[in-house]
Amino acid sequence: MPSSPAPDAATRRRARTILDRLVRRYPEIHTALDFLDPWQLLVSTVLSAQTTDDNVNRVTPVLFARWPTAVALAEADPGAVEKVVFSTGFYRQKTASIIALSRDLVDEFDGVVPADLDSLITLRGVGRKTASVVLAEAFGVPAIAVDTHVKRVTRRLGLTRHDDPEEIEADLRRLFPRARWGAVSMRFIQFGREVCDARRPRCWECGLADRCRYPDKTPPPG
Ligand code: SF4
Repeated sequence: MPSSPAPDAATRRRARTILDRLVRRYPEIHTALDFLDPWQLLVSTVLSAQTTDDNVNRVTPVLFARWPTAVALAEADPGAVEKVVFSTGFYRQKTASIIALSRDLVDEFDGVVPADLDSLITLRGVGRKTASVVLAEAFGVPAIAVDTHVKRVTRRLGLTRHDDPEEIEADLRRLFPRARWGAVSMRFIQFGREVCDARRPRCWECGLADRCRYPDKTPPPG
């Protein structure tokens, strides 16, 4: 984890105000991926790259009915898995990833998903973002996943100046108390989808505008 200077008290207060408002806007928010256990969420999160959660939820019932455990998927025929996950895109690469991570789980962790970041990122195809989603959503372990929405929104708000997801994660960890880490990612993601859009952020109706450092705020339409 990279180290940068600790944020000052004013920045920390501003960050907490922002998170408080997002919690009021989204009191209960969790991943839209369907899952019954940590392994299913791990596999679903890998499949969710470059596609929607709905697309993943359409294929996973078939996938998990046919290969219900890491042991089963570790031994699956890649061609058969590819047919099932085809509609999520990048199906060859995703099939290779979910089989490889299942094999690693079987070989190194007796087929059980570990509940710590350092172990999770040893699995092939599992980066910090995927690991953090699984920790926060399946285990309730404090973790901050930085995806493209979290990156864009936190940079515009001035909560980080970094570009690298790992450095952004480190900045956010310093800004929020550990107990609140699990509250961060899903709310920034949803806010990024609904309000702080990549191309045309809806600044004129944004409830965070008075705390936002983005210099190019969008003026009201008309
Ligand atoms: S004011 Fe605009 S740029 Fe800032 S958080 Fe709101 S929508 Fe995003």
